Formats: sequence, C-alpha cells, structure tokens
Amino acid sequence: MSELLFLGTAGARYVVAKQLRASGGVLLKIEDQFLLLDPGPGTLVYLAKNKIPLEKIKVILVSHQHLDHCADLNIVVDAITEGGFKKRGILYLTESAFKEPILLSYLHPFLLKIEFLKPKTLYEEPPFKFKTTSELKHSVETYGFLVFLPENKILGFLSDTAYFEELVEEFREAQILVVNLVREKSLNGVLHLSVSEVKKLLQKIKPETVILTHFGMTMLKANPFKIAKKLSEDLKIHVIAAYDGMKFMII
Ligand SMILES: [Zn+2]
Ligand SMILES: [Zn+2]
Repeated sequence: MSELLFLGTAGARYVVAKQLRASGGVLLKIEDQFLLLDPGPGTLVYLAKNKIPLEKIKVILVSHQHLDHCADLNIVVDAITEGGFKKRGILYLTESAFKEPILLSYLHPFLLKIEFLKPKTLYEEPPFKFKTTSELKHSVETYGFLVFLPENKILGFLSDTAYFEELVEEFREAQILVVNLVREKSLNGVLHLSVSEVKKLLQKIKPETVILTHFGMTMLKANPFKIAKKLSEDLKIHVIAAYDGMKFMII
C-alpha cells in the first residue's frame, strides 16, 4: 500500500510567511522508501515530528525554485546524508533551479545523483517511477509529474501554473490528482490555478480522487473543505482538501 503524507499545505507567500498552514511539501511512501516532493520551509521540522526515517528518503523532487518549494532542500540533504558522511539521496530538479542555485555547492557530493528534469521524460528510481509533464505556465521553469504506483494507479502532481488547455491531456491518465490550488478566483497575470479553472479541468478528466493543497489566503478565507465539498457535489467525483499532517492511503 502506497501512502501520501502532506507535511504542509500552504501555498502563496502570505500563508507561508505567517505559517497559517505548514509548508513542508508532500511525502510519498512506496514499500518502505520515500519520495519527497517540494521541500518548502519547515520540511525538516515536519519530517522529525512525523518520525520519518531520514535514511529512507530516496528521491527528492523539486518542481521549481520558488522558496515555498525548496527552502529546506539544503538542510534536508545534510540531514539525510548525515552531513555527507553517508552518500544518499537522488535529487531531481530543474536546470533553472540548479543554476539559481537552490543547492549549495558543498552539498553536491553528499548526494548519489543530481539530475535535471526535462519535459515529458520518464525517470526510474525503483520503487519510484515518474514522468514529467511539458513545462507548466509559471514564472520560472516548472513541471508537473505523473507517478506510476505499484497499485497500478497513476498519481498526478499538478504544481504551480496558470490554466492552459493542454493540462487536460497532461493529466488525463491520473486516477489520483494532487492539485496546487492557490487562489479562490483567478486574477489576471497571476500564474496560479483558481477554483473555476480546476473545476473546468476536472470536468474534462474525471480522476477517481482529487486532493487540493497549496492554499493561498483567498482559499483559506473561502474554506478549502467547503470548496472541496462543493466540487465533489457538482462534479460527482471524490474531491478532498488536504490539511497539514493528512495521510492518504492508496489501495
Ligand atoms: Zn508555490
Ligand atoms: Zn511557484
């Protein structure tokens, strides 16, 4: 049984800065190994609070270089490798994030491998197997992911992006879809998804389960649980709003 653990569900700057929600990203457990997606601020604290065995974090995946997705990357690399004493972990990130640089150079040899994400590419690090989407519409190089689970299901991660029609094809295969839903209403020039855009997407792809996360202030004010309930009723699919520390079992 694979498992998702939401170490944080905060999205935009204000929610992260005030820590109205935690901002630790998402952990996927397959067998007894972990994939850590987007280690934002506080990830190390929440890994410790959840008693996650750090040496079992095999893959770290960073969708893009914004701080809410990678602020704890350096300390997590240091922690899982015991300060470089044990070479561990495979890091996948965008070339743009690497050049920023989001990872301090003295930490590079601590990792087993650092690899750049390319669009529409398959990566295999057993038990993890995932492919990238084409580049999303965000202010920096950003990818979404489709993870192939041993339960013969596909788990989609729809990271920060503006809405664009190709998202339908990109995520059509996903039975379980995690969506970064930052805004209640769309705002011109803001490259994040809003409720009506997510609804438009879900109407076309109908996954079994949708998990909303990465909430900005307008979403928190609107109450993500109410929005998930309304989307479930309107679309007749299972939509849930993630909360900090939420576990989701995949069977
Ligand atoms: Zn973000
Ligand atoms: Zn972003």
